[in-house]
Amino acid sequence: MSVSAYRAFQLLKELSYERVSGSENEKRAAERLLQEAKSIGVDAHIEEFPVSCGKVHSAKLIVTAPYRKEYPVTGYECSLSTPAGGLDGEFYYAENLLPGHLKNVKDKIVLVNGRPRRKDYKKLQEAGAAAILSFSGSMLDRPSETDIAVCKLRETLTDSFGGAIALNMRCADAAEIVRRGAKTMHIEVDSESYEGTSQNVCAVITGTDWPDEIISFGAHYDSVHFSTGVYDNMSGSVILMEIMQYFAEHPPKRTLKFNWYGSEEQGLLGSKAWTAAHEDELEKHLLMINVDVAAPTLGVNIFHVLADDKATAYAEKLAEKMPYPIQVKADIYSSDCVPFADRGVPAVNLCRFGAQGANFIHDRRDNLKSGYLDKNALNITLQQVLYLAKRVANVKQFPIPRVIGPKIRDKIDKYLFRKEDEEK
Ligand SMILES: [Zn+2]
Repeated sequence: MSVSAYRAFQLLKELSYERVSGSENEKRAAERLLQEAKSIGVDAHIEEFPVSCGKVHSAKLIVTAPYRKEYPVTGYECSLSTPAGGLDGEFYYAENLLPGHLKNVKDKIVLVNGRPRRKDYKKLQEAGAAAILSFSGSMLDRPSETDIAVCKLRETLTDSFGGAIALNMRCADAAEIVRRGAKTMHIEVDSESYEGTSQNVCAVITGTDWPDEIISFGAHYDSVHFSTGVYDNMSGSVILMEIMQYFAEHPPKRTLKFNWYGSEEQGLLGSKAWTAAHEDELEKHLLMINVDVAAPTLGVNIFHVLADDKATAYAEKLAEKMPYPIQVKADIYSSDCVPFADRGVPAVNLCRFGAQGANFIHDRRDNLKSGYLDKNALNITLQQVLYLAKRVANVKQFPIPRVIGPKIRDKIDKYLFRKEDEEK
């Protein structure tokens, strides 16, 4: 029997529910993937790892002058709580945090454009903002059809620059408070941080000829809040299951590992935990093949290569022969391939990325009901990954050197905040 996009799509439907890092649902999905792997007859188990979790019990924002109105907000997970009775302060809109803005933020409740990135967070903390207010979505969002995104203050921010009080609101509400000239506001956040548990599902098929040469496959199975994560990334998860099914029936010459990563959406936590826990064996890893996002009917096929020029040239040669055209890019891709490349293992990501207008990600529209995914489109990436996998699993002379070129190395260092990115 060969791979089946139909079977893959059935499993995707079954697992189309919210699977947020550290949640019961994430665990439930991991157990279902484990059960599926075992039913194929492959050696599989779950590896747990700790994650920092946050629960916001309540969050409130009321403009108090020159008019009075309450606006719906979400508190950032792992935000600090406001003191008992809340926090009253002056409001300031600091746009994109130019020096001219920053001199006005001290002790204010500060609205910024979009979620603060690392360097924005650093500036706000250094300038002494009392609280951070961000907005998400679009001016045209209808409240009945959209959610206010639940964001998180990640450890990469708070460990370096300290904790903060942070709230998120709708784009149109942010515009209203600026337009109406809000001067003061009252905010409340009741937030709790704790250590939770996430998990990776891990399976292995030992190679018949060269068991000490390892190729690993990866796909994250977690989602963000409000999203059923079918596109991002149960699509990649079910593709991996089919690839594993193929090799269970056609034993590979090299050892193949299959990892379904948890908590990718919180900063690649599953693959970071896995590479740290398996550091000793990584020198045997020849390649990591990641699949993150697939199945949009309207889209483009992209083959990212996180290695060197030789690897990219090999990918281009393969791409010419692959079923369906695919574009090769020598670039990093923000997913579980990064921690592998960071530790010197050449890594690739294959995906089918939704075309503009048919690419719903990280909100409630990433849902089968949105109608932008289908099994024939899923089959494109499935066939492409299978083509690559058959080659690298069995070819005598391994074609990809174990080298991460300087350009990719530099991008990884910036991505992982080892080097500050230049201001644009
Ligand atoms: Zn993803």
